[in-house]
Amino acid sequence: MATALFGKARKRLKAAAKHLSVHPDVIEKLRYPKETLATTLLVRMDDGSRRAFKAWRCRYDDSRGPTKGGIRYHPKVNLDEVMTLAFWMTFKCAVANLPYGGGKGGVAVDAKKLSRMELERLSRAYVQAFARFIGPDRDIPAPDMYTNGIVMAWMADEYSVMTDQPNPAVITGKPVALGGSLGREDATGRGGYYVLRQLEQDLGLSPPKGRVVIQGFGNAGFHFARLIHADGYRIVGVSDSRSAIYDPDGLDPLAVEEHKQKTGRVAGAPTARKARELSNAELLEAECDLLVPAAMENQIVLENAASIKARIILELANGPTTPAADAVLNRAGKLVIPDILANSGGVTVSYFEWVQNKAGYYWSEDDVQQRLKKNIEPEARRIFDLHYQKGIDMRTAAYVHALQRLAASIEAHGTKAYFARGS
Ligand code: NAD
Repeated sequence: MATALFGKARKRLKAAAKHLSVHPDVIEKLRYPKETLATTLLVRMDDGSRRAFKAWRCRYDDSRGPTKGGIRYHPKVNLDEVMTLAFWMTFKCAVANLPYGGGKGGVAVDAKKLSRMELERLSRAYVQAFARFIGPDRDIPAPDMYTNGIVMAWMADEYSVMTDQPNPAVITGKPVALGGSLGREDATGRGGYYVLRQLEQDLGLSPPKGRVVIQGFGNAGFHFARLIHADGYRIVGVSDSRSAIYDPDGLDPLAVEEHKQKTGRVAGAPTARKARELSNAELLEAECDLLVPAAMENQIVLENAASIKARIILELANGPTTPAADAVLNRAGKLVIPDILANSGGVTVSYFEWVQNKAGYYWSEDDVQQRLKKNIEPEARRIFDLHYQKGIDMRTAAYVHALQRLAASIEAHGTKAYFARGS
């Protein structure tokens, strides 16, 4: 059953289990997804034809609560990736101490090639196909790559049509006017920013000197860049799917974003000194203190790991570093702040949105930000301390931390030790 990406992800479970005395029942349960639904969406295109798109949703584990995770639109999405992302969500929700399990969904589509109406039909078709699988107390989707607030609004609307009542808590990442939370837009980047600021002294990083390279200048990467730049960190390089720029004097992320909005690429953005254009691969290996992969998985791999110059890597993307690359980085004394901690701000504010929807009581943006800070900082501290005390890398420490919480829930249902004692 283990496939390429999923097999690699499961290695993290094995590595974490070595540092804890959890019951084998716990590991057995966490080795497999609870349920996965695969289907084909038949969507009416603008020219009248019908096109088929493969779609998936996986509820990996719900020991700690309803499953939670985004829906990704990408031409290369497949079952292996969806299962892996759902596995990561299980551990991420446990790291963030949210009362959720992990889930994920995906559609194999190049969303950029669809018209807005085609995209709406596709998104509504997804909900029609998965309506029995998702639900406000069962499985709660959210945005991921190439899905956004409008897509979530269509999906929430379709679900309310199908259930004949408003049901905002079925999905998060909605526009604020439809029950979305203030502060969700920048939550992932902001969470990473709080993690960095919480640990920067331990990491020997500080704003005036810290040179930062960010791969992927989308939602997560841009907001992270904006926040750390405002605190004085120097952003020396950024990239998107088409281009990469590097300027040792530092880039202004707001100017880069404005340029990207106008031209669709980061290259060519106005800078103090003329920025050099690099390839995406070169950018990952560029001179800097902190490297922030914020694009997609499998970017730091065995082939380029030894060439990474950054001392610290903060993973805003999900799964940007392969286990083989991790080993190279660890041997070279580099420190990786893992995705399941660094990007957990997104799901944390998604949880806040769900809580607000259920309570029908809405918080201020400042309130959301303060709660996020209060939630993520102690988890970053615990994981860093665990890494330090046990002499294990931070990723393993994060998995150990999450596994402790998952094990407590799974063991509370009874293990062999309990049943073997008899009645
Ligand atoms: P996004 O679509 O807003 O941005 C992705 C960015 O990456 C875009 O700028 C795109 O041009 C760029 N990109 C794509 N392929 C690239 C490549 N090969 N090299 C360089 N850049 C490339 O997506 P996002 O929401 O910012 O998500 C980015 C990553 O963060 C994903 O791994 C996602 O799973 C993860 N993440 C996002 C959230 C969230 O709330 N948005 C939460 C948790 C994790």
